[in-house]
Amino acid sequence: MAKGQINVQTENIFPIIKQFLYSDQEIFLRELVSNAVDATQKLRTLSNIGDVKGDIGETQMEVKVDEKAKTLTFSDRGIGMTEEEVDKYINQIAFSGAEEFVEKYKDKASVIGHFGLGFYSSFMVADKVEIFSKSYKEGSKAVKWECDGSPNFTLEEDDTRKERGTDIVLHISEDAKEYLSEFKIKELLDKYCKFMAVPIKFGTKEINDPEHEPKTTTDKDGKETKEEHRKITVDDIINNPTPAWTKAPVDLNDEDYKNFYRELYPMNFEESLFHIHLNVDYPFNLTGILYFPKLKKNLEVQKDKIQLYSNQVFVTDSVEGIVPDFLTLLHGVIDSPDIPLNVSRSYLQADGNVKKISNYISKKVADKLEELFKKDRKAFESKWDDIKIFIEYGMLSDEKFAKKAEKFMLFKNVEGEYFTADEYKTKIEVNQTDKNSKVVYLYTSDKDAQYSYIDAAKSKGYDVLVMDSPLTAHLVGKLEQADSNTTFTRVDGDTIDKLIQKDEEITSKLTEDDEKVLKPVFEEVVNKQTFTVNFVSLSEADSPMTVTQAEFMRRMKDMSAMGGGGMMGMGNMPDMYNLSVNSNHPLISKILAEKDEAKRKDMAKQAADLALLSQNLLKGEELSKFIKRSVALI
Ligand code: ADP
Repeated sequence: MAKGQINVQTENIFPIIKQFLYSDQEIFLRELVSNAVDATQKLRTLSNIGDVKGDIGETQMEVKVDEKAKTLTFSDRGIGMTEEEVDKYINQIAFSGAEEFVEKYKDKASVIGHFGLGFYSSFMVADKVEIFSKSYKEGSKAVKWECDGSPNFTLEEDDTRKERGTDIVLHISEDAKEYLSEFKIKELLDKYCKFMAVPIKFGTKEINDPEHEPKTTTDKDGKETKEEHRKITVDDIINNPTPAWTKAPVDLNDEDYKNFYRELYPMNFEESLFHIHLNVDYPFNLTGILYFPKLKKNLEVQKDKIQLYSNQVFVTDSVEGIVPDFLTLLHGVIDSPDIPLNVSRSYLQADGNVKKISNYISKKVADKLEELFKKDRKAFESKWDDIKIFIEYGMLSDEKFAKKAEKFMLFKNVEGEYFTADEYKTKIEVNQTDKNSKVVYLYTSDKDAQYSYIDAAKSKGYDVLVMDSPLTAHLVGKLEQADSNTTFTRVDGDTIDKLIQKDEEITSKLTEDDEKVLKPVFEEVVNKQTFTVNFVSLSEADSPMTVTQAEFMRRMKDMSAMGGGGMMGMGNMPDMYNLSVNSNHPLISKILAEKDEAKRKDMAKQAADLALLSQNLLKGEELSKFIKRSVALI
């Protein structure tokens, strides 16, 4: 038997490991299972190249909980270790001193493809660990290694392990008792090991015997009875060693992708809109499948996230920095051994490889969207409302994406027709160009609330877009920048003739003196802090009064409400509106002609309230008074 005492320092490594990785304690399970998977894959490789002769037999591994013995055991049928190998791979790494150990692993964490603490993370939950191992090498003797986390270990020949492979036995410590719960272990296996490349057995389960076909018998009364299915007990394999993303796209059909989506998010009962299979091996290695989900209205409650794997080992579901921001709401998996793991976010963002990966993903998504658009425009249009938020966000945050998106970004008008940017410009160019040669794009954020304004625009033959996303204010700003001959304005930004000003001006029926008389009358009936009264010469057929909110004003408020543009505090600014009085409307002439002051005020009030009503601004007491006044009038 070999006994060892560790050099210089005599601290326990146990407390240091605990402290080092405490927050992520549960990952010990991932580390031990992936060691077992590695050892198994190495054996398979050796067998494939002929270095291991004969049949290698069953290669699944097993995780076992023994509540009584307070142990958690990881058994594999991989390459195993000889005594020399245990000494080399297990002892020498750990027992070069606690501080050095931590130093070493800190370094290791930043080496591409490595992560975590490996085997020694088991001491986060165990106060004693045993290894029983037998190497695949012919004639090698089985060994036992034991350590209680103090600098003392033992390593000896021991024939507990009869066949090739390794058992790692954790004697779970008092304060980590939760890891003796089968339920807890199942949950963790599901989280970290669901797609690991070797079948993992965790207990057994009963299934219907596939060999047995239950007989149906009919008695003399003609009543049928069906025999019970015969049950058999089989190993419960908790993972899928060959998940869809590891396969070639040509070997998968739509159903396979759908099934994988369900496998990935068993609690999500929605289907995805479409998927993108990622597959690249130069200049970095990356596979994966991304899904465009149907987003919930409230983006915050999306709990299904993109999962990041490294060679089928789950790493994290926080992919910020690796996946472009605008795509973090997608679903699916990304598997890349080339993403440095367990390093800080800022390091990730500065890493060249990670930047390339992020750009690659963005490009793939753009290509896929373009392909879908070209292949089946109708189908693409039918999904537009669900995917536009991604595309808008992408256009705002990623120049390259924005360039590509020009081809498939769609405008939708109030009639529900879809247009590309080019198509739409062609459609409205002639009719909606104002006297300054700007093409004016009219849009509404709410078809019902802005109905009367849309109606006014349509009566002039103008087209109105529906732009109702939380990003609209930012997006229209960007579109205007991209084409300086265009300008966007919400339909209620001003009276329609002001929004699209043509050369011909209608002359006003009111003189300057008339306006001087009327202005205070209207100012008296509305809140002067909120409304600015002005006169416009519109046609007699237009509304007598219109409430509008200047485009720039509303846009700034919208943007600050989204938390963008450095306009902190703008969200608290009071709303300001224009009350535009149509000088040419007969009702206005009537109010002017009215000599009885009380009557004149009543008429002005009624007309102003009507204008407020169509902007949904008449509320509470004012609304109730309006209704009473209207009833009295009738
Ligand atoms: P890493 O797996 O990152 O190399 P570990 O500390 O987890 O680091 O493991 C150290 C070494 O111990 C491994 O590289 C491997 O050679 C050996 N080892 C660990 N677990 C097993 C196992 N189940 N079967 C065979 N060898 C193992």
